[in-house]
Amino acid sequence: MIANVILKRGKEESLLRRHLWIFSGAIARIEGEDNLTEGDIVDVYTSERKFIARGHYQIGSITVRVLTFEQEEINDEWWAERIRRAWEVRKAEGLTDNPSTTCYRLIHGEGDMLSGLVVDVYGSTAVVQCHSVGMFYARTQIANAIRKVYGDAIQSVYDKSSRTLPYKAGIDTCDGYLTEIRSNAGYVLENGLKFEVNWEEGQKTGFFIDQRVNRELVRRYARGRRVLNTFCYTGGFSVYAADGGATEVVSVDSSERAVELAARNMTLNFGEQYPHRAVAMDTFDFLKEMDDSFDLVILDPPAFAKHHKVAPEALKAYKRLNAKAMQKIKSGGILFTFSCSQAVNKEQFRMAVFSAAAIAGRRVRILHQLTQPEDHAINIYHPESEYLKGLVLYVE
Ligand code: SAH
Repeated sequence: MIANVILKRGKEESLLRRHLWIFSGAIARIEGEDNLTEGDIVDVYTSERKFIARGHYQIGSITVRVLTFEQEEINDEWWAERIRRAWEVRKAEGLTDNPSTTCYRLIHGEGDMLSGLVVDVYGSTAVVQCHSVGMFYARTQIANAIRKVYGDAIQSVYDKSSRTLPYKAGIDTCDGYLTEIRSNAGYVLENGLKFEVNWEEGQKTGFFIDQRVNRELVRRYARGRRVLNTFCYTGGFSVYAADGGATEVVSVDSSERAVELAARNMTLNFGEQYPHRAVAMDTFDFLKEMDDSFDLVILDPPAFAKHHKVAPEALKAYKRLNAKAMQKIKSGGILFTFSCSQAVNKEQFRMAVFSAAAIAGRRVRILHQLTQPEDHAINIYHPESEYLKGLVLYVE
C-alpha cells in the first residue's frame, strides 16, 4: 500500500508549476504513515483529494521529491524510459558519441526530472551518486536501466552514494559496483585532452565535468600568459591553459593528492618538459605570498556555502578571495572567478566580486558571464538546479 500525503489547502500551487520538492510545511497529514519509511514511494493529493504527484518520501524539510505528475507505476520500464530521455538530450548535445570527449553528465537531478540522482559517464563506466534514500533504494533498477539504454557502450556501473546520502538517514552504505564487470580507474578525453579519472577514490564522481565549456574559454585566453590555477584538483584548467599556449602554469590545491594528480595530467598531455609547477598550499596563503607576474588567474573554490544560513559568510570569503587575486594580478590580466554554491545566487556572487574590485581599487571589466554546461541542464520549473556561476574579468 502506497501512503498518501495530503497537502494543506492551496499548497499544490508550486506543484502545478511543476516544481519537484514538497516541503514539510505544505503537508496537512499523511495517511498510512505508520508503515512509511524513508525512501518509499508516496502519492500526493490536494486538500480536495485530487491526485497531483508521486514521489520519494524523505525525512527532513523536503518531505517528497516528485518523480512524476502522472499516476503511473515506477517500474523497470519507467526507469529505462526516464534514462533514455536523458540520453537523448545528451545525444542531441553531441556528447554520447564524441571521440574527443568521453565523459559527460547523463543525469543532473531535477534538470532531468530525477530529483536526488546524479549519473556521470566516463567512457564505458557510469558512476551513480544518490542524494536521497529513495534513489539509493532504486540503485539496482537505475543500473539495469542504464545498461538497457546503452547496451554494450556501458559495461560497468559504480555506486558512489556513501558520502552524498543524507547523514540522518543512518543507512549503512559502502560504495561498490552494481554490475558484474568492474572497470577500475582509467583515462578519459575532454575536448581531445587526456585526464586520469578515479571514480572510486576521487572527489565527487571523479572529475569536475561541469567546467568543460569554461575550460575551453581558458584555452582561448591562455596564449602567451603566465597562468595561475587555484583550487586546481585534477588540473583541468591547467591542462587547457597549457594547450592554449600559456608560457607557464602554476597549479595550487591544499590537497597533496590533488596537486600530484594535476602534475600527472600535465605530464600525460605535454610531457615532463612543460613548465608546470604544482604547489600543495592554501590558496589564500599562496595569493598573499605570490608575486604580481601572473596575467591569467583562475579561482574555482569548493562551495563556500552549503546552506542558505551560511551564505553571508560565504559571500565574505568570495569577496576576500577575489580582492586578493585582483590586487596581485598583472595589469591587463584575465581573471576567471567561479562560485558553485547553490545557496549563493548570480547577483549575490556578482556583488561580492564587485566589492572585491572596489577593495582592490582596480579598473575591472566583465568580459563573459559563465554558467554550467549543457549536460547540467536547468529544469525551467526548478531554478535551484542552476548552481555554477562564473565571471571572466579584464583587470587593468
Ligand atoms: N577547478 C577544479 C575543481 C575544484 S574542486 C576542476 O576544474 O576540476 C575544489 C578544490 O579545492 C579541491 O580539490 C580541494 O582540495 C581544494 N581546496 C579546498 N579548499 C582549499 C584552499 N583553502 N586552498 C586550496 N585548495 C583548496
